[in-house]
Amino acid sequence: TSRFDTLQAPPKDPILGVKEEFLADAATDKINLSVGAYRTDEGQPWVLPPVAEARKRLIEGKLEHEYLPSTGLKSYCDRVDLLLRGKTSETSATVQGLSGTGGLRLCFEFLRRHHSPTVYVPAVTWSNHWNVLRDAGCDARPYTYLDGIKLDWPKLVADLEQAEEGAIILLHLCAHNPSGVDPSSEQWRELCALCQRKRFLPVFDSAYLGFASGDVDKDAAPFRLFCENGLQPWACISFSKNFGLYSERAGAVVASCASAREASAVRGHLGKLARALYSNPPAFGARVVDAVLADAALEARWRECLVVMSGRIADMRAKLRSALEARTARDWFVHCVGIKVRASARAIDATVCHAIDATVSARWRDGRCPRRSHITSQVGMFSYTGLNKQQVLRLRAEHHVYMLESGRLSMAGVTSSNVEPLAAAIAAVL
Ligand code: PMP
Repeated sequence: TSRFDTLQAPPKDPILGVKEEFLADAATDKINLSVGAYRTDEGQPWVLPPVAEARKRLIEGKLEHEYLPSTGLKSYCDRVDLLLRGKTSETSATVQGLSGTGGLRLCFEFLRRHHSPTVYVPAVTWSNHWNVLRDAGCDARPYTYLDGIKLDWPKLVADLEQAEEGAIILLHLCAHNPSGVDPSSEQWRELCALCQRKRFLPVFDSAYLGFASGDVDKDAAPFRLFCENGLQPWACISFSKNFGLYSERAGAVVASCASAREASAVRGHLGKLARALYSNPPAFGARVVDAVLADAALEARWRECLVVMSGRIADMRAKLRSALEARTARDWFVHCVGIKVRASARAIDATVCHAIDATVSARWRDGRCPRRSHITSQVGMFSYTGLNKQQVLRLRAEHHVYMLESGRLSMAGVTSSNVEPLAAAIAAVL
């Protein structure tokens, strides 16, 4: 007898599924712009030189494989906390997480139990947020984020004004995924005041620290602003992109507390939850980050790498924009009229999120927004191209170019040699 007779295979992950399709494509000139992983201009993964150096030192040294505490490597946590805050804090509880995703899960597992299950999430967001929040038992509710290519500031504010007092609000620290559209400094200040008035608990998803501007301190500014104003924000940090440690799962949950006593209790409970979830985190990636941040020269070299990576991406944005402008007489970019999401909170998962993305792109209409400047004004790894689902599917089938159905492409995968064929392919499907 079959035990799982009624079980259907789940729908493909909107991001990872595209990568699978790409790998199965036999074409030699295929271009993968689906997953957010940095590539050099030669299209290769990059082991950052200071990371390679730290790794070498670790391997040459006395490297044992004992368990870490459930809360992770203490020296790493202290340095990560300092990196984010720019100063030490007695009232911070920082624990190691399984990179960004695992950190988010741990954070929301704690907050659901000890604070509130209600989490407001940007309606357009990284699709896995919905999965993580669902599995952490949270009540995830969307708030308006975008109106096509720009922040829908009035609706964003209106949605949050109506939100439950004391709820949790999920914010992207910088380089919003998937749109590359961040609030301005002025808007962050307004948002900070709004969060204060509504007594929200802000959680910053910090997967791209240093990747938006090339400067960690600039990118960390919204978190620091919220700290200065006494909002006691939390952050879930990932070192996947900015250290290139994708598979090493180096991350952290940073909790700002009211006192050292409270911080100690929060740290203890985060550790207790980690104990039951995975017992203790992997050591190697954390040791690498720790070694880089412990050495002023290595840290300086790492900061230079951020400038290189964010600079190369900005360069590709400029090249793609001019290549498109040279090829497309039509105003191909389309303006989205905004989207209201009324899915019941618990029903939202990656599939629904994908549908939201698709609706956003379906609302983009050729010619309604006569510009392509979004390609260069958006920041971080991703660009919302404005291409609709049909065009994206044609790009895959006819040109072997892979991006998400929402029209999101990873700028980090664009190179000097594929930017022209990419522009040609995009021009061909318009
Ligand atoms: N948050 C956001 C917004 C992301 O884009 C990502 C990576 N795509 C993550 C969190 C988690 O990344 P990881 O678990 O690989 O560190």
